[in-house]
Amino acid sequence: MPAAHASLVLSALLMLGACASAPAPAPVTHDPQQDLGLLWVKHAAEYRAITTQVYRNAEAALPDYINDSSWSAMPEQSGAEDLPPAVILDVDETVVSNVDFQLTFERPFANHKLDDWSSNYQSLPIPGVKDFVDAARAKGVAVFFVTNRPCERIGASNDPCPQKQTTIDDIREVGIAVEPEYVMLSGERPGWDREKLVRRELIAKTHRVIMLIGDDYGDFVPCARKKVVVPCTVPATRASRAEALKEYDDYWGAGWYILPNPMHGSWTSVR
Ligand SMILES: [Mg+2]
Repeated sequence: MPAAHASLVLSALLMLGACASAPAPAPVTHDPQQDLGLLWVKHAAEYRAITTQVYRNAEAALPDYINDSSWSAMPEQSGAEDLPPAVILDVDETVVSNVDFQLTFERPFANHKLDDWSSNYQSLPIPGVKDFVDAARAKGVAVFFVTNRPCERIGASNDPCPQKQTTIDDIREVGIAVEPEYVMLSGERPGWDREKLVRRELIAKTHRVIMLIGDDYGDFVPCARKKVVVPCTVPATRASRAEALKEYDDYWGAGWYILPNPMHGSWTSVR
């Protein structure tokens, strides 16, 4: 064997030996007790101060938006002057807090795990939400809850959407009375996919939507998700979301009220 060739073979063998003896890389883990986002929502007075601040700002703006019949918080809504006013709220991390679930559930996430947890524990409110809903209703504003909790059959049950009652119960547990027609889940009807625009537009047929309140970009901005669903045609990216921030600049804090959620959301999947 030529000397140069033998040297290459020796190098390769040494590399193989090095690989065989190197310790395996540590598996990627997610320790909820070390996650600053989760700990902040769970423990920081700052978090509660912010959600209270958001809801108080929204409440203070109610009279102006109720009285201005030309106003809508949905850029595409027009001709709604004679419709009764409504606000649209998301549910998770907007009305009910799931931080205790986030701190304890066995990874990876699955919808049924949140549903099981919600069914078995008393829901806790996002600070400020009940006062806001009470104030809105006292002024004659309808309150809709549009959530991306999905409808999924459980076992042999004939109920196509047992999660609907769980969601209603969760809202009621935080002290907010609600009737089923004001709660709209993903997949509850044909076309109600995770893109909430479809459900917002349905509400806009009967109500002038004066406010949107949520913790996820998708609670406000159409087509904010990585996954493409009708009527969206391209996946959202960090760049497209940043562009939308400029496009809808006038609405933030003026009809659109966003709550902090560093724990989960559509922001985690876009690149
Ligand atoms: Mg939410």
